[in-house]
Amino acid sequence: MDMDKKTQEDIIKCSRCGLCADVCPVYKAKRTENTLLRGKFLQLLGLIRGDLKWSNAIKSSIAYCLGCEKCKTQCPSGVSVLEIFEKIKHENLTWFEKILYGKFIFKIKIFILKVFYGAKHPVKSILRGKKSHVQKMSKSVIHFNGCLSKCINPGFRLPFEFFEGDFECCGIPYKSKGNLDEYRAVALRNAQKIEKTDALIVFNCATCLSTVRLHEFNNPKTKDRLVFYTDLYKEFLKNNKLTSKRPLTVTFHYPCHLKSAGISLSDVEDILKSIENVAYKKLENPDECCGFGGDFFLCHPKTASFLSIQKIDDVIKTGADIVLTACPTCLWSLKYGLKARHIKNIKAYDMAEFLYSLDFHAS
Ligand code: SF4
Ligand code: SF4
Repeated sequence: MDMDKKTQEDIIKCSRCGLCADVCPVYKAKRTENTLLRGKFLQLLGLIRGDLKWSNAIKSSIAYCLGCEKCKTQCPSGVSVLEIFEKIKHENLTWFEKILYGKFIFKIKIFILKVFYGAKHPVKSILRGKKSHVQKMSKSVIHFNGCLSKCINPGFRLPFEFFEGDFECCGIPYKSKGNLDEYRAVALRNAQKIEKTDALIVFNCATCLSTVRLHEFNNPKTKDRLVFYTDLYKEFLKNNKLTSKRPLTVTFHYPCHLKSAGISLSDVEDILKSIENVAYKKLENPDECCGFGGDFFLCHPKTASFLSIQKIDDVIKTGADIVLTACPTCLWSLKYGLKARHIKNIKAYDMAEFLYSLDFHAS
């Protein structure tokens, strides 16, 4: 099997210490050696040495990963697992997979999701009407509306004036499947659009922000203009207050991609703690992956369901009325987990929707 030198060196970097076992959600769910990175890298070492041949078993082993990057922070050897897996998937894509993980089929999947998810889960928004006092920002703001957000969480609004952008998918569906040619093409077109304006680009999906930020990390013209809506709320709350009409207890599931996008949990917590009439309760493991990770829940429903229900058990322990999050697949997972556990007295909402539903006034 062809494998570039850098990928080989990255694989060899793994000392097989097994420290990632403490944090890897899929290993915690399965507890088998080939679900642990040590086992996966041993198989890849076998490929490098020529002892093993590329097979469906190795392919499934590296596909059994949520892309949560918990292992990255734990690994003493600095192994960047996503980069390695994406390159190996890319080098082994068959012509059929190139079509399956290409733009045309992705658009069909999104269309089907929109129709079926929309029919099964009509948007039960907590928003009532449009705020009459939408504020103007000193800088113009353009919204990057992700593909899944449009399907699962279409009601994104802010108490500030913003415009809808004309962006493509952030590219993660292609990147995570190893279709790096399509990913690079899409990412480049988005980057060119971002470069053409001097507006702030606001994201409401942690995964989109993380993916676009990764691509634009070294571009001085754009990297500081890619913001999450919580960054805008932080400014807004310097002169304004948010108030809930009724007393509420809320908790927050911290998406893996919000962390990799560089938005800290304390940034989110500061906003939630500042709301009048709202008590914030921290989850026991706020950053434990909810298990849905892209289409992982379709490929590995048992593991995804196990992790989603585990997350809901943590939510129940907080005594919260509402569990919030900031990524459409996480929101989907939370809703799934609540339904699976037959919990009716706790609601799951996107945090942007929740914040916009509150009253706001000058402080
Ligand atoms: S990215 Fe997440 S699921 Fe994948 S190996 Fe690392 S910790 Fe495990
Ligand atoms: S923590 Fe890093 S070095 Fe240790 S087994 Fe996991 S990937 Fe390999």
